Amino acid sequence: MTYSILRRLLSFVCPDQCVCKISDVSLTELWKSGVRVIFVDLDNTLTAWGSQEISQPVKHWVEEAKAKGFQVVIVSNAGFRRRVAQVAKALGIIGIAAAGKPRRYVFRRYLEWKKLTPEQAVMIGDQLFTDILAAKRAGMKAILVEPLTDRKFITGRIQRPLELITIKILRRMNLMP
Ligand SMILES: [Mg+2]
Repeated sequence: MTYSILRRLLSFVCPDQCVCKISDVSLTELWKSGVRVIFVDLDNTLTAWGSQEISQPVKHWVEEAKAKGFQVVIVSNAGFRRRVAQVAKALGIIGIAAAGKPRRYVFRRYLEWKKLTPEQAVMIGDQLFTDILAAKRAGMKAILVEPLTDRKFITGRIQRPLELITIKILRRMNLMP
């Protein structure tokens, strides 16, 4: 009983796939699985924390995604609208700042606007309790990446050990892909 409740709770922070970095995500596989919109986190997923610099592999990956017909949308909790907008502009995609993940609001609004279902969407990010939780709550697929850099933010410093413990539990319970 308690075990099944725990499993159910953990399923909300359990990604469907884990990759080292975003450019490792197979766009062919995503397209085949019916995904049409890719929501991506900014800090530590697309760029290093607090940075605007986009690496060549990330640039290529986004270009390939767009060429395949995916909608790519940056969904960041960062309040720096200008930085989010600048990265989005450089990549030729939409960027949403202050998204309030793990809240579902922006995802729902976007999917409603584009007349897409949550099953047609994936969220890619480096944090269990914001990116993955938001995706699972919204009924979307979730892909976890390794953070590009150490988190400098104080919340990150507290959150990271908690995440690592959760990942360990997920692995031990054979829930982690
Ligand atoms: Mg992040």
